Amino acid sequence: MKNFIGYKCSLCGTEYLPNQITYTCPKDNGNLDVILDFDSIKKKFHPEDITSRTENSLWRYLPLLPVDEPAGDSTPLHIAGWTPVFALPSLAKKLNLQHLWLKDESRNPTASFKDRASAVVVTRAQEIKSEIIITASTGNAGAALAGMAAAVNQKAIIFAPKNAPPAKVAQLLIFGAKVILVDGNYDDAFDLSIKASKEFGWYCRNTGYNPFTLEGKKTAAFEIWEWWIKTHQDWHQADSALNHHAPLTIFVSVGDGNIISGIHKGFKDLFSLGWITNMPRIIGVQAQGSSAIANAFQVNTEIIIPVSSNTIADSISVDLPRDGVRAVRATKETNGTYITVSDEEILQAIAELGKVGIFAEPAGATAYAGVIKSATMGVVRSDDPILVLNTGSGLKDVKAAMQAVQSAPVIEPTLEAVKKIL
Ligand SMILES: *Cc1c(COP(=O)(O)O)cnc(C)c1O
Ligand SMILES: [Zn+2]
Repeated sequence: MKNFIGYKCSLCGTEYLPNQITYTCPKDNGNLDVILDFDSIKKKFHPEDITSRTENSLWRYLPLLPVDEPAGDSTPLHIAGWTPVFALPSLAKKLNLQHLWLKDESRNPTASFKDRASAVVVTRAQEIKSEIIITASTGNAGAALAGMAAAVNQKAIIFAPKNAPPAKVAQLLIFGAKVILVDGNYDDAFDLSIKASKEFGWYCRNTGYNPFTLEGKKTAAFEIWEWWIKTHQDWHQADSALNHHAPLTIFVSVGDGNIISGIHKGFKDLFSLGWITNMPRIIGVQAQGSSAIANAFQVNTEIIIPVSSNTIADSISVDLPRDGVRAVRATKETNGTYITVSDEEILQAIAELGKVGIFAEPAGATAYAGVIKSATMGVVRSDDPILVLNTGSGLKDVKAAMQAVQSAPVIEPTLEAVKKIL
């Protein structure tokens, strides 16, 4: 918190003091980047001071966050983050890749990456003493907010599209949030939630609107950095140890563009501190039916033109991405790119991940669908070190999962019947 010195607009560059502003730039609605006092952090901390901390959660990065440690005992809010990384040798072999890992964000308390953002925003809400916190959500951001808020006894209101997957709606209700289902899509819920937030003075967590979501999401980058230096000794070996000059390549699924921008910000923070001198390569993956950011990237513009989104991957189904400009930059500035994948390719990726014990929801498997496509198209080399994120649990959308597999036979309870189907 002491290191939080203001905001900077990602479009016009105007800087604001912490208490001057809450959401986006008043001049152009640009997304705001939180500015930290890197000189002061650098003086007080070395990388080892962070990597030797004992908190197995995103709070181990407290010196690099714009909030104070949340009060209270261990709750789901206190244990968000610090997700495992698995090697995927058998999938790598199928794709002719030599180094493939997956960071499993479905292990977060409410089973998606969104817990990182909500943990930090709820902590911020407590600091500024807001009574009610709200968000628009396709489901996961809401579940994360409702869960984190419940953990610290904060009131939450969630605006979700009425056709959100039932498991996600169940999470919202079980966590005791006030749930408002909007007869429209995510974009309708988004616009309505902002109007309601203004009308009633509620604190709004919306993705790509509240600058603190990015600060939570950037912690995944810190974990990737730590994982790499602990398993390979030296971050710079991401550039040399694996035999050729290729940085770690990170695959992320993209809807509003806030996760990919958060991961970019995390590495930029480490770069500003001088704790890394080379950036990883970031590759964004969008569903073909919801590809506004990929479209902008392909024609090299920062102007994001809305689409009429339609994809099985509900968590990344967005007409107008709210963090599109920074999401384009995340790949452009790291030598990355955007890949788009069809719903069939997403379903196939769910099935592939299932074969190694990972159960991803459609948006979670989208990044892996991008890995499959990139390996086939030669976007990555066989010896590139590749890390892919699974951003959400398959249990969140069982209906979609069942489309990725053949249904099980129903038989008479006899041995003969078993023999018949073997
Ligand atoms: C929100 C979400 C994403 C995409 O994050 P954005 O910030 O909207 O780009 C990807 N996967 C899952 C499971 C999500 O919930
Ligand atoms: Zn601005």
